[in-house]
Amino acid sequence: MRILLVEDDALLGDGIRAGLKLAGYTIDWVRDGEAARLALLDHAYQACVLDLGLPRRGGLSVLQDLRERGNPLPVLILTARDSSADKIAGLDAGADDYLTKPFDLPELQARLRALLRRAGGTTTPTLEHAGVVLDPASKRVTRNGEAVSLSAREYTLLLDLLRHKSHIRTRSQLEESLYSWGEETGSNTVEVYIHHLRKKLGADFIRTVRGLGYQLGGPA
Ligand code: CA
Repeated sequence: MRILLVEDDALLGDGIRAGLKLAGYTIDWVRDGEAARLALLDHAYQACVLDLGLPRRGGLSVLQDLRERGNPLPVLILTARDSSADKIAGLDAGADDYLTKPFDLPELQARLRALLRRAGGTTTPTLEHAGVVLDPASKRVTRNGEAVSLSAREYTLLLDLLRHKSHIRTRSQLEESLYSWGEETGSNTVEVYIHHLRKKLGADFIRTVRGLGYQLGGPA
């Protein structure tokens, strides 16, 4: 799960990034509206946390630009302004949810989980496949009822595959989901994490679609 964080306040941005990273998300953080617009053009994200008051280009304009291009990306706006006019403008411009500053990080995380759930077309909080259950709220993973211990990257990869259950995920899509900008990506790291997941969840749990990528295998 890769999320674009757009926030010009250094302290707040740092706190949000750290909190969301702990929750298992991959975070790209930009500090102005123009950088946000370009990032949204260039990368595939699963959600965007968008401040409204930003240098170079306002958050509302970033959002309008995104929607004019027909991009349905889930967007949660952050606003310091308490006026309902700002919230209405944000929602009317295509935001999916909003939070007024100051807010608690756990609430932001819960709202993001709800957004991602709705975007994934599911209403249940947990994701399941072939006896494996992942609960994004607690980050707990079980297989046939038994707890499975995963590293942060393994967890992120599993979450991505479960969210795109009916799709084949290419290696570059999985890399996008695993790494933020500037992070070193080894040449075969996706394969290594797939290998670890197969060891922990069963050899048939993830199948290789030759020449295309990976997809969850076995009985749904
Ligand atoms: Ca701001």
